[in-house]
Amino acid sequence: MSPLLQVDRLSKSYGAVRAVDGVSFAVNPGEIYGLLGPNGAGKTTTISMICGLLRPDAGSVAVGGRPFAADPQAAKRLMGVVPQDLALYEELSAAENLIFWGRLAGLDAKTARLRTAELLEALSLSDRAKDAVKTFSGGMKRRVNLGCALLHRPQLLLLDEPTVGIDPQARLNIIEFIRGLRASGTAVLYTTHYLEEAESLCDRIGIVDHGRMHAEGTLRELQERLGGDRLFTLEGAWAGAQPDTWPRFHEHFRVLQHSERQLVVAALGERDPADCLRELLALPVQVENVTLKRPSLNEVFLQLTGRDLRE
Ligand code: ATP
Repeated sequence: MSPLLQVDRLSKSYGAVRAVDGVSFAVNPGEIYGLLGPNGAGKTTTISMICGLLRPDAGSVAVGGRPFAADPQAAKRLMGVVPQDLALYEELSAAENLIFWGRLAGLDAKTARLRTAELLEALSLSDRAKDAVKTFSGGMKRRVNLGCALLHRPQLLLLDEPTVGIDPQARLNIIEFIRGLRASGTAVLYTTHYLEEAESLCDRIGIVDHGRMHAEGTLRELQERLGGDRLFTLEGAWAGAQPDTWPRFHEHFRVLQHSERQLVVAALGERDPADCLRELLALPVQVENVTLKRPSLNEVFLQLTGRDLRE
């Protein structure tokens, strides 16, 4: 299967700020690819270059197997873009907003009306179709914003933080709708700084920070980079502990977090958790409790970027 979107070593600077620095990834049909990173990581700049709003300093974008630059209009016909900032006419109704975007995308009036009705139904907005958008909640506006990008049935959907600032129920509605798009074969690029969304929604995740792609893969693959199933949390009095000085410790374990009460370590290599446990209990310090778990995406993020996304 050839990717619907191929991004190759994309770069963009604003003065001295390298907003995007050699980022590469691909999104396949029927796949949700998550770009996960904190505010300022370069996600919006990346999307803006993919959809032709910004010209890259270097690198290339191919959509549907063809370079974007070769035929920008053809590439744009394949994609729908949902910007982070709402792009709606507040005085117009939900239906009028969708029809407007449908006409702009080149649909005839009848097709635009028909698809608007279908989309408002799928987005659970039919009963408010004729109401002015200014009377809508934040979550409803986000759904209208999403609908506006879908009138021309894009094969590639670019979503820039589509659930920012809305309540959990509205967020779930949007996420369910996006899962439905994936099931119908749409390729989705989804930027977020919410770990839970990346974990539960995205088939593959690219971890970005300071404009750079630090790692990518399925959640499982990213967890494997940190020792897969073998992440141990040791409770004890660790304030003065110096794991570096423990004989051979660093050959078998990597310290991920070190606080007064907790030491979180990943076992290196393919080793049996029972062997790891024996070694940990034989350390020259008193361990009060040990738990074994799979690393969370936050721990993966922390290890790769040195930053905690939950802060
Ligand atoms: P957010 O979700 O907060 O928008 P982001 O991951 O999308 O974050 P970008 O908006 O792409 O990040 O910003 C990347 C970097 O580029 C940041 O340091 C930002 O301050 C800078 N930046 C973005 N747009 C501009 C601009 N028009 N002029 C100057 N600097 C900019």
